Order: sequence, then structure tokens, then C-alpha cells
Amino acid sequence: MAIDWNRRTCARKGHVTYAPDDPRLRIRLHAQTALGEVWRCLRCGDFVLGEPHGAGPAAEAPLVPRGKVLRDLFVLRFLALERAVRGVFIVLAAVAVWKFSNSKDAVRRLFDEYLDVFRPVFRHFHYDLDHSPVVGTIQKTFGYQHSTLLLVAALLLAYALIEIIEAVGLWYAKRWAEYLTVVATAAFLPLEIYELTEHVSALKIATLVLNILAVLYIAVAKRLFGLRGGRRAFDEERRSASLLEVEESAGALV
Ligand SMILES: [Zn+2]
Repeated sequence: MAIDWNRRTCARKGHVTYAPDDPRLRIRLHAQTALGEVWRCLRCGDFVLGEPHGAGPAAEAPLVPRGKVLRDLFVLRFLALERAVRGVFIVLAAVAVWKFSNSKDAVRRLFDEYLDVFRPVFRHFHYDLDHSPVVGTIQKTFGYQHSTLLLVAALLLAYALIEIIEAVGLWYAKRWAEYLTVVATAAFLPLEIYELTEHVSALKIATLVLNILAVLYIAVAKRLFGLRGGRRAFDEERRSASLLEVEESAGALV
């Protein structure tokens, strides 16, 4: 079943209409009806009653993501949320380790409290904290020394920071974030596979599969590392997907 990303987005955010100065383009996007003037939405193509949301030269029209470009944005935002949740959880874990690294017993108590507090929340999202590799790793560190605990906290914090930077960048569809996600995620894949050889769990497999798919999807869809024509082809695809661009090329033939 195909999802109409254009209509879905318009239903949520409202239509985007624009009155280009060029009369040949204007006539293609505009019509008079018994109810008043209507303008064609740059995203879904429906005619919308009322004044246009903007006006000016066609080149200055908002670049409205449509179709495949829009779908890619949805996928990126899903990955961004997933990484943000993971990042926040790892920050909490890092704080727990660091704050009470002086006393292993206190760490254990605090960590268990954290777990008790967050267990129902994570369970609600079908995330089993008791079988989380991160939690398991931290529980192992209870047997370690003060300096080791500090190092673990620092490493966790660094990892969480990468996840959160990825999340913010992916949310805003920044190209650097796509590169960062692909490189950082790919770099951690061997560790995840090694983890699986130690102990197999559904969550670990799901995480590994999600991360492999994320790396492939972003690299191919966003044409990173010069794949499928690279940056130039990506910008071209984005522009050619905009409705005004389509209308403009059609208008040029008239
Ligand atoms: Zn629309």
C-alpha cells in the first residue's frame, strides 16, 4: 500500500500556496471559482480556497519537499527520535555512574532506583531495561575501580553526545548529520556483532538490523559519498520534485 506523503503532510501542517510573478506560471496555479479564488498547493497539488500564502518571483518560492523527498524526511525524523531517546537514556546512565563513582554500593543503589523509576516508562515503549546491553554493561562495572567508573561515564557521555548530535542534525535533515550517522553507526556495527556473539537477544538483533538498514538507507537515498551522482544529483532531485519547478518546465513549452 502506497502512503500519500504529500496529503498526509498537508493534513497535518496545512497547504502551501504561492503566487509567482510570471503570469504564465500564475495561470497554472490559480483559478477563479464561484466561491472565490483558488491556488494550487505546492505540496499536494490540490486547489485551495483563499489568498496565496506568499507571492514573488518563481525562483523565490518555498522549496516544498514532496513525494520521495518527503518520505525520506519522515524516515530521517523517525531515526532522529530513536537516537534522541537512546541518547537521553545513555546520558542518565552516565550521570548515574559518574555521580556515585566513589561508592560502588551507592552507585548500585542509585542505578537500581533509576531503573525502578524508568522501568515502567521504558516498558510502555516495549523497551526491556533489564535486558538492555547498556544496563548490563553498567552492572558489570559495579565491580570496577573508581577511575574505571569515571572512564566508563566519560565514554558513555561521549557516545550519548554523538547520538544526540545525530538526532538534532537528522531532525533538520542536515547533510553533515547524515554523514555522521552513517560513519558513527557503521563504526559501532562490529561492536554490536561482537555483542551478539556473547549473548543473543531480540533487542540486540533489532538494534543491529535497524542500524544496518539506517546506514544503507541514508547512504543510498541521500547519495552520500558520491553514490548515485552524489550531492549534485541529490540537489537536482530535490528541485525537480518541487511542483513549481514541474509547472515551470511545462510552462516553458507553451
Ligand atoms: Zn496541500
